[in-house]
Amino acid sequence: MLVLDGEPYAAVGMEVDADTLTVVALDLAGTQLLSWRRAFVGVDSPPGRSVSAIATLASRAVNRVIAQNRQVLGLTVGVPGLVDAGGAVTFAANLGWHGVDLRAELVRALRDPGFEVSVDNDANLAALAEQRYGAYAGTANLVAIRAGVGVGAGILVDGHVLRGGRGFTGEIGHVQVDPTGPVCRCGRTGCLEAVAGVAAIVRRVLPETEADGPVVDYAPEVEEVLRRVRQADPVAIEALAAAGRHLGHGVAILANLVNPDVVVVGGTLAPLAPWLLPHAESELRARSVAPDSGGCRLVASALDGSATAIGGAARALAAVDAGHLPRMPAAVATG
Ligand SMILES: [Zn+2]
Repeated sequence: MLVLDGEPYAAVGMEVDADTLTVVALDLAGTQLLSWRRAFVGVDSPPGRSVSAIATLASRAVNRVIAQNRQVLGLTVGVPGLVDAGGAVTFAANLGWHGVDLRAELVRALRDPGFEVSVDNDANLAALAEQRYGAYAGTANLVAIRAGVGVGAGILVDGHVLRGGRGFTGEIGHVQVDPTGPVCRCGRTGCLEAVAGVAAIVRRVLPETEADGPVVDYAPEVEEVLRRVRQADPVAIEALAAAGRHLGHGVAILANLVNPDVVVVGGTLAPLAPWLLPHAESELRARSVAPDSGGCRLVASALDGSATAIGGAARALAAVDAGHLPRMPAAVATG
């Protein structure tokens, strides 16, 4: 068995969400070396400005790790949208991106670093994090749902991420669950994320929020929804029940198609899980053709909203596990 001295290595992972950037660095043992979260205006911002904000935070994290005398094994950035095999973002509804070659932009911004830079779908990375570090680590058939402004699924079947022909699997957020529902940011009607995403919940519980213009950071609103539901506010309770039922509809589609052992819900909506998941669970039971929903458990992520960033870092660590040894640094400072 190969044993590496874990001390000098680190992997960096980052999540781009519509309203936040999260970056983490892990050592080989999975210990977090840094974890930063920054507000981010992803929605309707020019892609060039967003990419530059992402690159700036990524290079700060990389430099921090290097300053700790560690060698960076890789950087993977998770994006809520369709990401092709080359790391270009074909479409990201909630960032307003069409055809943004994020990987190439990052490599340029980081001045061709001596480590691998990759871009993947946010939910795919969340699934890797859940498989490696989550409460159901080691589960071979697992779905990770990222539920925030958008809703997406990372699907592990027999231990592998299900990617499909062009890498565009898991777009459960754009499955229509309510034909009479509102128009989604993708242009279609009644998509799951348009009725169960954080914007739909906030619009229902705090209708005054958008009076001053579009919301760019949902964290304070989610806090307020949480406060109200804890006080048994009936509007908040019903809004979460309705969103939960829609979420359960989406989960049942996944359960009928890929028969996961566990579906882990993470992202901005994770703190609201105690009020969402019981309703989602009932809907899952009602809509699953297999007895006992095929054994599917529906749980909230225990990874504190950082699953995508953790999964991004885990990707480089998994490559080391698979026997891909880190390259030696180009230059070693002595003195
Ligand atoms: Zn849609």
